[in-house]
Amino acid sequence: IRKRTVSLPAFPRHSIHRHGSTLVVAEHEGGVIKPPSLSAVAAATCLPESSVSVLLAGSGASLHQAASHAASCHPSISKVLVADSDKLKNPLAEPWAKLVHLVQQSGGYSHIIAAANSFGKNVMPRAAALLDVSPITDVTGISDSNTFVRPIYAGNALCTVRYTGVNPCILTIRSTSFPVLQKSVDSKSNEASISQVDLSTFDDEDLGKSRYISQTSQDDERPDLGNARVVVTGGRALKSAENFKLIEDLAKKLGAAVGATRAAVDAGYVPNDLQVGQTGKIVAPELYMAFGVSGAIQHLAGMRDSKVIVAVNNDADAPIFQVADYGLVGDLFEVIPELLEKLPER
Ligand code: FAD
Repeated sequence: IRKRTVSLPAFPRHSIHRHGSTLVVAEHEGGVIKPPSLSAVAAATCLPESSVSVLLAGSGASLHQAASHAASCHPSISKVLVADSDKLKNPLAEPWAKLVHLVQQSGGYSHIIAAANSFGKNVMPRAAALLDVSPITDVTGISDSNTFVRPIYAGNALCTVRYTGVNPCILTIRSTSFPVLQKSVDSKSNEASISQVDLSTFDDEDLGKSRYISQTSQDDERPDLGNARVVVTGGRALKSAENFKLIEDLAKKLGAAVGATRAAVDAGYVPNDLQVGQTGKIVAPELYMAFGVSGAIQHLAGMRDSKVIVAVNNDADAPIFQVADYGLVGDLFEVIPELLEKLPER
């Protein structure tokens, strides 16, 4: 698979302010900013001469803890905006999009950024529609304040796009492309200011037709798939949900997150939040282990940036071997039990 860079024709630069201000729309959990939102902050720091504000919403003590965390977690954050309302305590796209619209009206930001995860993909296009601008999604590189790189054709080509619209330029970023450097997180010396968003007009508005029902979180002991250092993925070859436990056991031994192909998800072996690929999660761990995965282009789109790829497949011609650093032609039902036996207990 070859990567191509496609440059679109140059357009006149007239609409973006050179001295920008960026709003990062952030998620929080347990009183801290979630890692994908920290990546969005890292992306914001790639915009030249831009001050960074972080927008947090929700209610209760954890929102205020998260605000304190945001104020001290990154040296580039100059302001934290807190929207405290029961209407924002769940990640429903409509009220969040209206909040972004409201904050933009008073803040006049040049850029608004969120991670391209299910939250960002849900909220940002709606916010862009309310603001009557066209969002640029899934950004993997920032060349300057209006030139961005994003993958197209399931990651087979990289496209350089120039934003020529009016402010704000709305971006969702691929968090694996903007790693958070621990050094920058630790080196914060002064705290950002924290201020409340005036929600007096917002609270009276009709906040959409969606209703929050419930949220199911994955097993807390397992690392989050999107940020794990090691991912162990199983494909259709596992044949059943029961057999998929082999993948889970191996992941547990390695302290890894579990991933799956769409074929494994569609067959009902695992829930769809474990799907890796074009229509699933994008991952770039230190180590990606694929068992019984053919290596379809849509799967590769979600894991090809992994640092080391290990593949086990009983077909020597399986496409996964073209991207694997280490490949083993073998039967996963023999290989995994052997690995489980030989790997030390954690
Ligand atoms: P298969 O293609 O059936 O491959 C199974 C592999 O296991 C084979 O290579 C076989 O040789 C090997 N095998 C069989 N038995 C054993 C054994 N005992 N030991 C070792 N190896 C064995 N797919 C995704 O994964 N993620 C996506 O996000 C995604 N998005 C899609 C979006 C669109 C629009 C479309 C059209 C498709 C998408 N797909 C996606 C589906 C994708 O095209 C493939 O169908 C899917 O990835 C195949 O999954 P698989 O490798 O598990 O299954």
